[in-house]
This record gives sequence, structure tokens and C-alpha cells, in this order.
Amino acid sequence: MNVDPRALQLPGIQQHPTELRPRRMSLAERFYLPLLSGMVVTIRHMFQNLLGLRKRVTIQYPEERREYSHRYRGHHILTTRPDGSVRCVACFLCATNCPAQCIHIEAGEHNDVNVEKYPVVYEIDMLRCVFCGYCVDACPEEAIIMSNNYDMAFFNREQSIVGKADLMKPYTVDPERLGYRPYYPEEDAQRAKMRREAFDLVDAARQKAAGAAQSAVAGG
Ligand code: SF4
Ligand code: SF4
Repeated sequence: MNVDPRALQLPGIQQHPTELRPRRMSLAERFYLPLLSGMVVTIRHMFQNLLGLRKRVTIQYPEERREYSHRYRGHHILTTRPDGSVRCVACFLCATNCPAQCIHIEAGEHNDVNVEKYPVVYEIDMLRCVFCGYCVDACPEEAIIMSNNYDMAFFNREQSIVGKADLMKPYTVDPERLGYRPYYPEEDAQRAKMRREAFDLVDAARQKAAGAAQSAVAGG
């Protein structure tokens, strides 16, 4: 049964268009004139940079390097014990938490029964990694942290898969190049102050509530 769509139209509600009409461009749009305003901005920036009228935001990498935050999430580091052995106990928590599934671990039995396991193979595929830091957050041993190292260029896919030896490279444990990690000793004082202030707020709220309850009893 064919139903006239106009018969179904509710009063006060605009009917959906049933036919498409291409939008007609204005005369200015046909001559690409709106692009000129964008070009004016580009040319203005070019001359400001050429004449040194403002501080440039670009740098001449790699000769010039930018300072990154000490929480920067760069190339991973597998940390070591004082004897130089890897701290990782191959618990797979980092690999399980990795949203990109780019950590590959093969566990082996450790001679020390207290350690139990160690990673015979530990690989991270840097091209799949999204540098979220979840592996660092998940690790119960502080065995994986991140560095400030952002020099990551690869000529082929194989080079992007970084193994245990590269992750334990000594240059990455330079304290100046540390990035995201679970604990920041330099921030402890600041955290303690924030905790104290939070407790003060809770105390103040409790005292206020107790005062209000007493006034209610006295008033009743
Ligand atoms: S930083 Fe994120 S994506 Fe990269 S290895 Fe760690 S958990 Fe996976
Ligand atoms: S790096 Fe940490 S979380 Fe990952 S397997 Fe080793 S000990 Fe477990």
C-alpha cells in the first residue's frame, strides 16, 4: 500500500528533504577569493619570521634541541639491579596492560628462588607503541620506566622492535634523560603539602558539620 508522506507529516514539524540539491557557490568562491585571507596570514607570518619581528617557535633540530618535561614519555628503559642484572621478573603485567599489545616477553627460570623468573626475551615494538606509560604504571618492580629520549628513527620495520639489550643501554639511565617514572623524589615535598592541605579541608568540613549539629540541638 502506497502512503502519501505528506499525510504522515505532523503539524509544526519540518519534513525531512527528500531530494538533494547541490549547493551553489558564490561568485567569490568560484574565483577562490576566500583562500586569500588564509594566504595573507601565511605571508604575514613569513615576513615576521624573516625580519625577526617575533620569537620563532621552530627550532633547527637536531642541532638545536628542545627541553622536554621530566615526565616526558620517550624511549623505554629496563632498569637494573646494582649487580647489573635486569630488575624485570617477567610477570607480564606490563604486556597485559599494554593497549597496543606491543610488548613481547619470554620468561625463563631464574637461579635465585627469590626472584623466580626473568625475561629471556623482552621486546617492544616502537612503531606500535602509543607511549601511554601504562606499562610503567603496571610494573610492580619499577623495572620499566621511560626516558626523555625522543630520537627514534627507523629505516625498516625490524629496527623498530627494540630488544632487552637496547632497552638496558647505559646512556638511557643518565639522570638528566629520565622521563616518566612512578616516583619523583623532587616532588615528595610538594605531594606532602597537598596531602596536608587536603586533610585540613576535611578537618574544616568536619568542624563545620559538628558546629551546625550543635546549633540545631541548641535551637531545638
Ligand atoms: S607505553 Fe603504552 S603502548 Fe607503549 S609499551 Fe607501554 S603500555 Fe604499551
Ligand atoms: S617490566 Fe615490570 S611489569 Fe613488565 S614483566 Fe617486567 S616486572 Fe613485570
